[in-house]
Amino acid sequence: MSEETIFSKIIRQEIATPLLYQDDLVTAFRDISPKAKSHILIIPNKLIPTINDVAEDDELCLGRMVTVAKKLAKEEGIDEGGYRLIFNCNEDGGQEVYHIHMHLVGGEPLGPMLSI
Ligand code: 5GP
Repeated sequence: MSEETIFSKIIRQEIATPLLYQDDLVTAFRDISPKAKSHILIIPNKLIPTINDVAEDDELCLGRMVTVAKKLAKEEGIDEGGYRLIFNCNEDGGQEVYHIHMHLVGGEPLGPMLSI
């Protein structure tokens, strides 16, 4: 069985984190340690530990994550300038929280996609 992370507590608001968006499928809030001027996390309400665990049944939810990213990018005023959507998966991908999340980062030039 998958273990809950701090993100489940944020979804249920057991930890007070201001939510930028929430519906029946997804929740969005600001990253606690922003890596760019604008850094938002968009997560499924359902616990899916990694992208490796995504199932066909989750396609609606993953699609919603993208449409919510688009909406929040516009609200942040970063849609025209541009932004990046990132999923990290497992250790090599740098995943720290095992509840999938889409990083929406922007608000300034982001530089090269990878620096290995
Ligand atoms: P990952 O490295 O797993 O892709 O990203 C996890 C992200 O979650 C990190 O950018 C980290 O700053 C953020 N994060 C971890 N714990 C919390 C928290 O309690 N609240 C918020 N808002 N963000 C968190």
